[in-house]
Amino acid sequence: MSNNLKITVAGAGIGGLATATALAQAGHSVVVAERASEIGEVGAGIQISPNGMAVLKAIGAGDALEAVSLKGSAVRLFDGPSGREILTLDLENHGLGLEWRFVHRARLIEVLLSAAESANVRLETGREIAPPPEGAALPGDDLLIGADGLHSKVRARVDEASKPFFTKQVAWRALIPGEGPAVAEMHLGPGRHVVSYPLPGGLRNVVAVEERAAWAEEGWSHSDHPGNLKGAFAGFSPRVRGWLDAVDECFLWGLFRHRVADRWWDRQQVLLGDAAHPTLPFLAQGANMALEDAWALSQAVRADPMSQGLTQYQEKRRERVSRVVDAATVNARNYHLKSAPVRFAAHSILRLAGALAPAKPLRRFDWLYVYDVTKEH
Ligand SMILES: Cc1cc2nc3c(=O)[nH]c(=O)nc-3n(C[C@H](O)[C@H](O)[C@H](O)COP(=O)(O)OP(=O)(O)OC[C@H]3O[C@@H](n4cnc5c(N)ncnc54)[C@H](O)[C@@H]3O)c2cc1C
Repeated sequence: MSNNLKITVAGAGIGGLATATALAQAGHSVVVAERASEIGEVGAGIQISPNGMAVLKAIGAGDALEAVSLKGSAVRLFDGPSGREILTLDLENHGLGLEWRFVHRARLIEVLLSAAESANVRLETGREIAPPPEGAALPGDDLLIGADGLHSKVRARVDEASKPFFTKQVAWRALIPGEGPAVAEMHLGPGRHVVSYPLPGGLRNVVAVEERAAWAEEGWSHSDHPGNLKGAFAGFSPRVRGWLDAVDECFLWGLFRHRVADRWWDRQQVLLGDAAHPTLPFLAQGANMALEDAWALSQAVRADPMSQGLTQYQEKRRERVSRVVDAATVNARNYHLKSAPVRFAAHSILRLAGALAPAKPLRRFDWLYVYDVTKEH
């Protein structure tokens, strides 16, 4: 296969920019078309886990990311109402030299933009991609990559449109001032939980999830009154209530389940990231999976014929991503145990397990975090 393909990437999000960079570094001519008139990001934090870091390092963006992020030292689980600690996952003494990073989304996008620019990727903002109708050829391009996120237009051409359903869960996100050790805290309560971790620059990211019947739109930029957030967690510990009292502005999004795409490519169009597999946020893996896809796809186009590489890409990625999506869904159930005796028993078992074998709860996820897609080919 030619090592100078003409490729258009739809979407300058995390997945699109990483893919464009990896492909341009391999010698292809890459344009990223972003429908927004300028590249911006929602005000929120994001956790990059070791499997995502492996890709950032492979495209030469590891040092830049490290410079704008905090190195996560632990994840600590608490019972939300009482504030009693359940378990600590030590991220530093894992024994495998892995790195978790907490970063503001806007900084991550800046790092990726700079990597893309250094690789000579051309960025065209204010350009919305409408994939060609079925059967029509791509004008002037060898490949169109649909990195156009939730509600992807490219997905609608490649796979059957996904019909997401409301999970009866909503999530608020907010940034508040705050310092502290680089620990991600999870406070679990009946039908709800809060995740919070610090970010560089004296900020703290807060995401709070509540089960409820009232529908909310699936979008990251719908604001809500902070009073609703505070009211939903009034029964939580003073530590959590203190964070929520500091919230001046918050955003609410409805959590929907989407089917992982069956088909990831068709003729000259191929999907990645949220376009193929939006996931619930309970494992913090949406962006990390988009990064893994980015690397895998940059390798897949090297196959001769390319169709063989794209089929392998689809099969391998669909299997891994489906496992992640399922694990995130299971977490949602475990985090929100409603009956007090069941919650008490579950937390006691976790506490005991953590005391007996402190490394084990995290090692259960080696399949996710130790995996390095850049070593796959
Ligand atoms: C508050 C919040 C916290 C999160 N925390 C984490 C976390 O800690 N860890 C994690 O791994 N994941 C996290 N996620 C999930 C993660 O952000 C997403 O999975 C990830 O951004 C998906 O990347 P993407 O590149 O596929 O899509 P996106 O980042 O959504 O990018 C899609 C881009 O395509 C553009 N676009 C759309 N349609 C078109 C078109 N037709 N033509 C051109 N451009 C188009 C959009 O404007 C956008 O810029 C979080 C999500 C949210 C909302």
